[in-house]
Amino acid sequence: MPKSLLAVLAHPDDESLGVGGTLAKYASEGVEVSLLTATRGDGGRFRGHPVGDPRHPGPAALASIRETELRAAAAVLGVRDVALLDYRDQHLDRANPREAIADIVRHLRRVRPDVVVTFGPDGAYGHPDHVAISQFATAATVAAADSAFALDAAESIREPHTVSKLYYIAWPATRGPRTSRR
Ligand SMILES: [Zn+2]
Repeated sequence: MPKSLLAVLAHPDDESLGVGGTLAKYASEGVEVSLLTATRGDGGRFRGHPVGDPRHPGPAALASIRETELRAAAAVLGVRDVALLDYRDQHLDRANPREAIADIVRHLRRVRPDVVVTFGPDGAYGHPDHVAISQFATAATVAAADSAFALDAAESIREPHTVSKLYYIAWPATRGPRTSRR
């Protein structure tokens, strides 16, 4: 049975900026690579233009554009399964932790990955959404293995799942903080 890897990330483009090389490498070696992205990137800039600028298409249209970009990038990287949770961009640190962890557990028990990759506790460069997804994904890998952590009735048919390895993205200090919030 092929090995599988699930990346749990915050925004469309995190899969390319942070771990694109890693995902492409393992996909090319036959690992089943899946991606779970918590937001659709609706709070971001569009080609450098902030929300409210006439050249910005608006948050809803931007989310659609970024989801399309995400799926195109995933196809190039060799990612087979792309799922989005549709949390509000730039507000992930204010999400209900119980709900966010349960959402990720649901995907862990469905995809059943050997390896999970997410942001480190530093959020790469301190982005609150990245810090939040690191915490939620870490908690979810523990909860997914716990038979006492029950989801709703329809999902409870899935067996608990133990992830073999949880890896954090190591962000080189030399890259420093980014100026834009992605
Ligand atoms: Zn990001």
